[in-house]
Amino acid sequence: MPKGHHYGRTQTRAYTGEYHRVYAKAFKSLLTASLGSYSLNGDNLSNEHKKLELIELDNSLRVMVFTINNTPHQIALKLDNSSVSNKLYITCPYCQKQRQSLYAIKSAYACRQCIGLHYASQSERPQDRLIRRIRKLRKELWGYDWPEVNNMFEKIAYWPKPKGMRWKTIEQRKNKITELEKRYWPMAITQMESTFCDQFMADY
Ligand SMILES: [Zn+2]
Repeated sequence: MPKGHHYGRTQTRAYTGEYHRVYAKAFKSLLTASLGSYSLNGDNLSNEHKKLELIELDNSLRVMVFTINNTPHQIALKLDNSSVSNKLYITCPYCQKQRQSLYAIKSAYACRQCIGLHYASQSERPQDRLIRRIRKLRKELWGYDWPEVNNMFEKIAYWPKPKGMRWKTIEQRKNKITELEKRYWPMAITQMESTFCDQFMADY
């Protein structure tokens, strides 16, 4: 993505759920770690998105350098000393602004604003849309009063047989819901991992 190119203006909509996100707070230990090579954890990251070189500039600013597509991407680690919490930020390689998180996109790391990502407020994430569809279909079979109807941790496979419908119709609809549930879980797990996983480990 060339500098100054505004993806936000294009017609194509990008969803945050499709990208792997790295969080500034996960890099805190790199403020004191020895300089050198490190590797991030994360199944959704390409090898080039994982390998980084930790360097320190003359002004003692620490910078992570990712070489993606033969292009160095510099992400600085910036402590905000003005706040009590000493919050850590990472800078976007494109706009240089301090961010709490960056997204791994095809050949770069970039902030949400630079990619033109749309958040839930502007456009629903795919997994949210899927949850809504699953709940709607479940309610058609088991009704609004069924206690687990909104519970995404419960799969419908062992639920009692719904009343007042032909057996074949019920089977078809149950199969549809099960298929959607199967699509939902990998998305939900990816989301949880990118939110909670330990972002990096030392490269030995
Ligand atoms: Zn940016």
